[in-house]
Amino acid sequence: MTIAEVKTFLADLKKDRSPEDAALIEKAYNFAEEAHRGQKRASGDPYFSHCVAVTRLLLEMEMDTATVCAGLLHDILEDTAVTFNLLQGEFPEPIPHLVEGVTKISTIRFRSNMEKQAENLRRMILAMAKDIRVIIIKFCDRLHNMRTLQYLPDQKQLIIARDTLDIYAPLANRLGMMQIRSELEDLAMKYLYPDDYQELFDKTRLRAPKRASLIDRTIKILEREIAKRGIHAMIEGRSKHLYGIFQKMRKQNITFEEVYDFTAIRIITDTLELCYDILGLVHSLWRPIPNRFRDFIALPKENQYQSLHTTVVGLEGEATEIQIRTGEMHRVAEYGVAAHWKYKEGKKGLTDIDLRLQWLRQLIEWLKDIPNPGEFIDALRGDVFADIVFCFTPKGDVVELPKGSTPLDFAYHIHTEIGNLCIGARVNKKYVSLKTPLQSGDVVEIITSNHAHPSRDWLDLVQTSRARNKIKHYLKTKELDQYVRIGRDLLQKALKTKGLSLSHPVFLEKLEGVIKSLRENSLDDLLFEIGFGSASASDIAARFGKLEEKPKRKKGKKSHAPGIILHGLDNALVRYSKCCNPIPGDPIIGFVTRGRGISIHKSSCPALMRQKIENSGDSSRIVQVEWDSENLPKCQVNLRVVARDRTGLLKDLSGTISQIGLNVEESHSRVISHKNQAVFRFVIFIDDTKQLNDLLNRIKNVPGVISISRIVRKQDTQGDEK
Ligand code: MN
Repeated sequence: MTIAEVKTFLADLKKDRSPEDAALIEKAYNFAEEAHRGQKRASGDPYFSHCVAVTRLLLEMEMDTATVCAGLLHDILEDTAVTFNLLQGEFPEPIPHLVEGVTKISTIRFRSNMEKQAENLRRMILAMAKDIRVIIIKFCDRLHNMRTLQYLPDQKQLIIARDTLDIYAPLANRLGMMQIRSELEDLAMKYLYPDDYQELFDKTRLRAPKRASLIDRTIKILEREIAKRGIHAMIEGRSKHLYGIFQKMRKQNITFEEVYDFTAIRIITDTLELCYDILGLVHSLWRPIPNRFRDFIALPKENQYQSLHTTVVGLEGEATEIQIRTGEMHRVAEYGVAAHWKYKEGKKGLTDIDLRLQWLRQLIEWLKDIPNPGEFIDALRGDVFADIVFCFTPKGDVVELPKGSTPLDFAYHIHTEIGNLCIGARVNKKYVSLKTPLQSGDVVEIITSNHAHPSRDWLDLVQTSRARNKIKHYLKTKELDQYVRIGRDLLQKALKTKGLSLSHPVFLEKLEGVIKSLRENSLDDLLFEIGFGSASASDIAARFGKLEEKPKRKKGKKSHAPGIILHGLDNALVRYSKCCNPIPGDPIIGFVTRGRGISIHKSSCPALMRQKIENSGDSSRIVQVEWDSENLPKCQVNLRVVARDRTGLLKDLSGTISQIGLNVEESHSRVISHKNQAVFRFVIFIDDTKQLNDLLNRIKNVPGVISISRIVRKQDTQGDEK
């Protein structure tokens, strides 16, 4: 730019602004110009010319001072050595954060799989959520880049044009930024559908003269009639953007010649009443076509678009669309959300926060039902927003939570202390119970009290693992004593049924062994687990009883495990080890225990390996055994099946098991609702590995089954071989 051009540009930027604002703009201009000095664009132009062009677009939309400054500075973090901290030192908020927001969006790479695209769009929305001006700057940036796309290599052109058409243009549409959307679409079409673009471009030009004269004549008549009534209005002819015509042709499967309303006349006047006056006048001049009248003034579109639309049988019998609106409605129609930042208007009915929340809520609503059938949008609708709610703090900050989250999740998301001290919540200024599921767009206010603290039932109210862990942590640390006390009472009672007590010599003698076998550190830990409900007092008490009786009983019985052939040890006491739970068909081995006979392990049993290593060199305790095929025992197996939860699942599983003549001894199931999975445990007696494999294969084929495994009960194996 020449010095004169710079001067004019700066004068335009500063026009109608306070001296402080004007100074800030000049500072931003100089700062950015210096930082980008020496850098060139692909076109060969100085890089800073791009920043100027983007800012010009912002100025056209009459954006506020912060946005204009951020427009000048928008590429400074990405492309120069200037850091965020430096920017914060030089410019007041929100300028540094606006620039940072634009930079963050620029680093999003859209070309990847569908899920990532949806994720990217979500990030874009969150950036917008912080300050929607970020996206306005980004749109201007994208528009200028599209206008200068011819300088980039072909491959890059296509990628950028595709993103523009798939993501930026629909979003601009949703934000009501029609002018930017139309131009983005036309530019993208030029690169993505070059032949169609050229054809339409030529046709509209060829057909233009005839239509132009028709439209000129119509405008003349309107101007004369409106002036007669002393009304002030501006009248213009408008042609639909090419991509709009292209889409209409494709959607309705019609030819160019059949698209009859690609030109329209727009009348912009001063007041709402005058719009209706002019409508009456238009209808008195030409006959309106039935069902083509739309009153978007009384019933604005959801993006706040307002206008009167009518189509009349105009000159030479041509259908002519006429739009009537006020100047302010026109601004909203062209600039959408950006219209709210008009700097010349001192009056602000809404606070910044109100405005932001209002737009965000709408945006979230729109995103839910974007009509575009593209896969991307489907992915967005399905994966991203189905499972997520966006809520807001009273200050307007966005909090993203999984669907089904409650005010407690929200509270813990903000801060652990806020969660721990939470006594209530207000959602959208109304008091609600802590179990109320939050909805997208809710403004959530957490009420705290210094006397409040988490309780156990909170665990059922929360959805996020963060909240759950924080609550558990609190309960564990702060209420440890209480649970230990409860645990002590419970264990005391359970011991009593066995003739024991916490001070009984047998109890004290076995205590250490039991604690070890349960992998606890101390009696208090054990008592806590009982009090908290994660260990059963009677199970624990049984361990003290069992240890006492076990050796006596075993010695006296001297029973053989059936189905095993021992070589040369015919009368030995044999039992199946519980650590690996061998079943007929498994390769097996015998281990001579101290005083408790021979235990049968799978030859691959890890516990056995450990024993071997501990007794290194002493192989005399290992004996060869084999299955007695004449006399096989029924063996108990424990199966764990994970499946997608659905109705009839348990029925199908048990049906499959009984199909091969097996009975279920025991079954447990639980549902992991956040994964939509069900986990089953079956205890079944089977004959041999062949039968087991057959069963496993059949279960695998039950629809919905994700995995199936054989399990051994861990705690029972502990201390088994002592
Ligand atoms: Mn840029």
